[in-house]
Amino acid sequence: MGTIFEKIIAREIPAHIIYEDEMVVAFLDIKPVHLGHALIVPKQPFVNAFDAPGDTLAQMMKVGSLIAKRLETTLGAEGVNLIMNNGAAAGQEVFHAHLHVVPRYQDDQAFTSPHRTEVSAEDLAATAEKLRA
Ligand code: AMP
Repeated sequence: MGTIFEKIIAREIPAHIIYEDEMVVAFLDIKPVHLGHALIVPKQPFVNAFDAPGDTLAQMMKVGSLIAKRLETTLGAEGVNLIMNNGAAAGQEVFHAHLHVVPRYQDDQAFTSPHRTEVSAEDLAATAEKLRA
């Protein structure tokens, strides 16, 4: 059974589509952080960034950057977050890959600061070593 995004891509349910090419579709998020908040979605139903190939992720980012500029020029966005939630633990709710393009305004307090931890230099070095291997 497909996700709601597959139904949007197939035009089985309505959405405010703002961009489309052979690889991705972009439409407005139904519950935006601010008006203009858009989702860039690959036409193929990859689950998330763990699953989607590099050329698809690259096109999502390319279109995300295009729409970010449009948010700035048409809606006066002062900043833009490009966010991808990958996995339920990272906040993913729709399991069809998507890039959020979120217009931001100075001091809008739209997101709380992410939790950060103090770590040792040894732990940083050991983690980098694991990731490099
Ligand atoms: P995520 O938590 O990254 O999986 O985000 C899923 C996003 O999809 C949320 O921001 C929802 O508001 C959005 N969303 C869910 N259903 C629809 C829909 N029918 N049309 C547009 N956006 C939707």
